[in-house]
Amino acid sequence: MRQNIVAGNWKMNNTLEEGITLAKEVNAILVANKPNCKVVLGTPFIHITEAVKAVDSSVVGIAAQNCADKVSGAYTGEISAAMVKSTGAQYVILGHSERRAYYGETNASLKEKTDLALANDLTPIFCIGEVLEEREAEKHFDVVKTQIEEALFHLSADAFSKVVLAYEPVWAIGTGKTASPEQAQEIHAFIRQTLADKYGAEVADNTSILYGGSCKASNAKELFSNPDVDGGLIGGASLKAEDFHGIIAAF
Ligand code: PEP
Repeated sequence: MRQNIVAGNWKMNNTLEEGITLAKEVNAILVANKPNCKVVLGTPFIHITEAVKAVDSSVVGIAAQNCADKVSGAYTGEISAAMVKSTGAQYVILGHSERRAYYGETNASLKEKTDLALANDLTPIFCIGEVLEEREAEKHFDVVKTQIEEALFHLSADAFSKVVLAYEPVWAIGTGKTASPEQAQEIHAFIRQTLADKYGAEVADNTSILYGGSCKASNAKELFSNPDVDGGLIGGASLKAEDFHGIIAAF
């Protein structure tokens, strides 16, 4: 059966010292209050090695926020999937809308990144979602379907079963606007049906599909209680241990 997951995305926040303090705070809360879901912290690259050491890996997993679409070599400033794996991280967030919008990531480059993440035994937390104009034009179903098809549907069922999806409507990320529980359920069910059409009901049922976009303690329970919403990818509210725990406690 699929896992419920709450994953934090720290984005470009926290010095090394601040980040490790936060990781330790989250870990202490969760060791004392065992969560009813998997918890992941998506830290900047430079934090990962220390963050891995700072948490109990049976309670908290660590994710990178990106990896390169190349194996290795002359790609100044890039970090490969193998390098991420060597830090002890278990997950990598791929295709976040900020990376698509500001760093030109495409479904084609994300296909390469996904393959390299899987080849290095990292679990991709693969982000999809539409911008406001696409939602208003009722194109959101087509947009997420194309993102999934072009970046992920070359995978075998076995490989796909290692992927976690995060539906993140771009208009809800960092804006304070959240998809309503009904909007979230509607598109998560559509995504699961898209997976079932390609890989069959068993793979679809076993895939965790997270919601992301201004999720916080006050709305997490309502969002996560939907049958096809298996947790959240959390930006702003993952930067304070108490706020993040408020969301985790929704399970
Ligand atoms: C995110 O960055 O993935 C995100 C969902 O951000 P926020 O929770 O701040 O909207």
